[in-house]
Amino acid sequence: MLEKQNLLGLPQDKLLKFFSDLSEKPFRTKQIMQWIYHLGASSFGDMHNLSKELRQKLQAIATIDLPEVINLNHSRDGVIKWIIKLGEENHIETVFIPERERGTLCISSQVGCALACTFCSTGVQGFNRNLKSHEIISQVLIAQNYLKKKDKRVSNVVFMGMGEPLLNESAVYDACDILLDDWAFGLSRRKVTVSSSGIVPALYRMADTIPVSLAISLHAPNDELRDVLVPINQKYPIKDLMKACHYYLNAGTQERHIFFEYVMLDGVNDLPEHAKSLATLLKGVSAKVNLIPFNPFPKTQYRTSKEVTINQFQNILYRSGIRTTTRRTRGDDVDAACGQLAGKVLDKSKRNVGRHQVLS
Ligand code: SAH
Ligand code: SF4
Repeated sequence: MLEKQNLLGLPQDKLLKFFSDLSEKPFRTKQIMQWIYHLGASSFGDMHNLSKELRQKLQAIATIDLPEVINLNHSRDGVIKWIIKLGEENHIETVFIPERERGTLCISSQVGCALACTFCSTGVQGFNRNLKSHEIISQVLIAQNYLKKKDKRVSNVVFMGMGEPLLNESAVYDACDILLDDWAFGLSRRKVTVSSSGIVPALYRMADTIPVSLAISLHAPNDELRDVLVPINQKYPIKDLMKACHYYLNAGTQERHIFFEYVMLDGVNDLPEHAKSLATLLKGVSAKVNLIPFNPFPKTQYRTSKEVTINQFQNILYRSGIRTTTRRTRGDDVDAACGQLAGKVLDKSKRNVGRHQVLS
C-alpha cells in the first residue's frame, strides 16, 4: 500500500498540485491550510466545509501527522522547551522565549549537526539526519497549539535550534514558505530568521529563493581563529562568506541587513583586538552584531567571558558605529539556551563519515 501523504509541511504550491491531481478545485488548498494552521485541526473528520466524499478520500490517502511530545519543561523565566520524538532513536528540541512585545520560537532543522563547532553542544554530539519540512513545521504548530490555550502566541521564528538550516535547504525553504503564507502562519519576512554558520553556495541560493532575515554565526574576525571555532570556515573562509553576505544584502527588493552572531568565549575571541578587527571587517556592511555570552555544557573547554569584558567589547563596536546588542541568556535552568540543545542524537556522522569527509 502507498504511504499516506502528510499534508503538514506542504507549501501552498505543492498542496495546489496535490488537489489538482485529485481533480479538486484550487480553493480546497486554502480551506485545508486554514483548518491545519489557523484552527489546529488534526483530523479530516472535523473539516465540515469539505464534502463527506472528499473527507473520506483524504482519510484514505493523506494524514496530518504531528510527532509526539515526550517532554515539556517550563523554566523560571517563562521559557518553554519541548522535547519531540522522531522515531525511536532521535529527539529534537524546540524552545519558546517570551518577551514583553514578542514571543520567539527557536526551532531545529536537523537531528544534531555535522559541523562540529567546538563551543556548541549540538555540534559536539554529532549528526543523524535532516528534518523533513513537516517535522520543521510541526515544531511551530505544536508550540502554537499549546500557547493558544495560554493566550500567548509565536510572533517570531528563528532557525537557531539544533542543526545547520542551510545544509537542509529544500525542507527549510518549504517551511519558510509556510511560515510566511497568510493561509498558514502569516509571519512577516522580518520575523523569520535563518541562522547559518556560513554555507557559502547555499547563501547565494537563499538570497534569491526565500525573502527571510539572515543571521550569520561569525564568532571570530579572522580565519585563523574561525577555522578552530567554526571548522566549516576551512572550506568557506571569511572573505568568501562576506562576499556572499554582500550578495544577500543587495538581492531582493526590500532593504536588508544581517545579524552577526558572536559567542563570547573567555580569553579566546573576546580581546579588544578581536573587537577592533571585527569592526574593520563589518565596516560599510548593513550589520547588527549580537554578542552571545557562552552557554556552558558538560565537559566543555570554554568559559563565558566576564561581564566587564563583554561591555568593553560592545563599546569598541559602538564607537566604530556598529549596532551591537548583548543577548540575555534565558531558560538556562532547563538547558534551553542557545547552543545547549542536545536532544537525543544517534550520531551517524562520526562513525560513518568522520568530520574531515563532512567538510570536504
Ligand atoms: N547552525 C546554525 C543555527 C543553530 S546554532 C548556526 O550555527 O548559526 C544557533 C546559534 O547558537 C548560533 O549563533 C550558534 O553559534 C550559537 N551557539 C552555539 N553554541 C553556543 C553556546 N554554547 N553558547 C552560546 N551560543 C551558542
Ligand atoms: Fe552546527 Fe550551528 Fe552548532 Fe555549529 S553552532 S555545530 S553549525 S548547530
